[in-house]
Amino acid sequence: MQKEKVIIIGSGPAGLTAALYTARAMLNPLVIAGTQIGGQIAITGEVENYPGFWSPDHTPTGPELVEVMQKQAEHFGARLEYDEVVAVDFQQRPFHIKTYGKEFLADSVIVTAGASPTKLQVPGEEEYTGRGVSYCGTCDGFFFRGKDVVVVGGGDSAMEEGIFLTKFANKVEVIHRRDELRAGAILQKRAFANEKISFIWDSVVEEVVGNGVVQGVKVKNVKTGESRQLKTDGVFIFIGHYPNSQFLVGQLAMDEEGYVITDERYRTSVPGIFAAGEIQDPHFRQITTSVGQGAGAGMELEKWLAQQE
Ligand code: NAP
Repeated sequence: MQKEKVIIIGSGPAGLTAALYTARAMLNPLVIAGTQIGGQIAITGEVENYPGFWSPDHTPTGPELVEVMQKQAEHFGARLEYDEVVAVDFQQRPFHIKTYGKEFLADSVIVTAGASPTKLQVPGEEEYTGRGVSYCGTCDGFFFRGKDVVVVGGGDSAMEEGIFLTKFANKVEVIHRRDELRAGAILQKRAFANEKISFIWDSVVEEVVGNGVVQGVKVKNVKTGESRQLKTDGVFIFIGHYPNSQFLVGQLAMDEEGYVITDERYRTSVPGIFAAGEIQDPHFRQITTSVGQGAGAGMELEKWLAQQE
């Protein structure tokens, strides 16, 4: 079994930053990268709110930022393993981590496995995923050139992705369950000013309908109780996220939504196991904050390991 001093589970901004910090502390970290290097920012379009990389001529994209973060971590000694963790045993040290391909022992761990988009859980959603239902405008917008799409949700993600989709789609209808948006002021203003975007308020999607591909959605007005069918070619769902912590059940203390509980120094319920980024943060969920948390967890792990030795 491969023995490591530091294993970082996940390669989003928190994981790659924790890798950079622990690599620069000469701890030779191994990052188990998961299904997608960079996590959610790998499928994010332009990033306007990550300081240091923006200029009037160029707004960096998520993949551009990931590439720099990965190169920087590797340059200072982090190693990446392209595999996914399926099970862990944190009950005794060294900790035991099992991926699809291998088994590892680790003296210390930083969990940065991130979060995934929440599903609507309505009939037709799963059946039509990849055939008109999507959770990523940046990835799939291109396929909807000249078509009509709906966006479900009223938060920052829904507005940001809805605005992005107007580059391709003919019409973007936002279906929101209330009559006011949760999104921040800037994105609200941009969405309201966009001529291709219209809003269906106080409404929820009850079903995705189609015939091989999406053809429409059944929408119910929650105030009047009336349901109707709306024709559309695409259904983009942005209703929040859930933490990717299923493999940690029974191993680390979590809240009722599955977020790993950490203290202000990113320590989990098990000494030697730290957590950073969206797996433990349902509030901020920004690249900037995840980077800061990854740095903090890396620094705390270094101190903790030094105390053990
Ligand atoms: P969010 O802020 O939690 O918003 C989720 C939206 O989906 C809300 O409008 C919510 O309605 C709605 N919703 C939740 N469950 C639903 C359901 N079952 N059916 C229908 N609608 C449902 O999630 P987010 O937009 O992904 O943003 C998450 C975090 O990332 C936020 O902190 C946000 O500020 C941040 N973010 C920032 C940026 C940026 O700064 N550019 C971009 C993207 C995300 P209610 O409003 O009624 O609860």
